[in-house]
Amino acid sequence: MRIKQLYVAAGQWSVSAVLICSAFASSVASADNSVDLGLEEGMRKAVFIVVDGIPADVLERVHTPNLDLISNAGGYTRAFVGGAIGTDTESPTVSAVGYQSLLTGTWANKHNVWDNEVRHPDYRYWDIFRIAKAFDQKLQTAVFSTWEYNRTRLLGDTLHAAGGRKLDHYVDGMEYDLARFPHDPDSLYIRAIDEHVATSAAEYISDKGPDLSWVYFQYTDDIGHFFGDSRQQDDALQLTDAWVGEIWKVIQQRQKLLAEDWLIIVTTDHGRSRQTGKDHGGHSQRERTTWISTNSRHLNGRFSQTPGIVDIVPSIVNHLDLQLPELIRSQLDGQAFIDRF
Ligand SMILES: [Zn+2]
Repeated sequence: MRIKQLYVAAGQWSVSAVLICSAFASSVASADNSVDLGLEEGMRKAVFIVVDGIPADVLERVHTPNLDLISNAGGYTRAFVGGAIGTDTESPTVSAVGYQSLLTGTWANKHNVWDNEVRHPDYRYWDIFRIAKAFDQKLQTAVFSTWEYNRTRLLGDTLHAAGGRKLDHYVDGMEYDLARFPHDPDSLYIRAIDEHVATSAAEYISDKGPDLSWVYFQYTDDIGHFFGDSRQQDDALQLTDAWVGEIWKVIQQRQKLLAEDWLIIVTTDHGRSRQTGKDHGGHSQRERTTWISTNSRHLNGRFSQTPGIVDIVPSIVNHLDLQLPELIRSQLDGQAFIDRF
């Protein structure tokens, strides 16, 4: 199996180590062409990023150069959340509901997360980290998040019912660190936590190159609730775009130096109301309309057919070349917009 074979060899390297040794390594490379570790195909890696509550029309209007770079490498599309209106799959356009639809590839009638309280998730619908660990326990996983519930409740990390320990590394819970991030009514502390999340993710990915990571940014949604459609929201998006750029930069460094094959998917969890842009939760077209930006060069026709947030898990499964139990596969509501290759 490609991933297993390559893991040990590449795991001995880090980007920083390679950078430090680059002057030396260049002579090695010219001598025996071995800097690529002799790998014929890149080891598959994936990171997905949620930028909370940015409507597609806002993203398309605001200058976001880093997301543009990612989209230009692969593709950009409008997408949707909320399931099918008037059917069992209809799901509130609420944050945690959307995250769980992303994580499990199912709508709320299956994963059973209906609001941000996250009372009783149905862990029979496996999340992508559980899928990865069940396939190969050695795959390295990480979460960087401005909301601790993402790990403790949605993923249910360490819970027996949710598959036990699935994360090898996480950075979250800073919202409870009042000394370092004192709360303020303008959510500047959330901006500071998002920045810490971005820096932590970029450093860890650069150094360790985990096989599967989730990065979650919250500030854009707070600003949306405060100001709605506004210059402030545009500024928050541009700030977050710069953080995404830091992660994209280290991924590109690893791709060049370590012959890894990285998938990055950036998306949002819901749009916002048409009238003010302050609210979400309902099923107006603007609340249901989201977007996906990815560097994948293996996009299929599904990508241009307004994919759903539930299509992301099967797409990551294909990129990482994972296999999943038939029962779990048959439960998925999504279909991959990335082909196996
Ligand atoms: Zn949200």
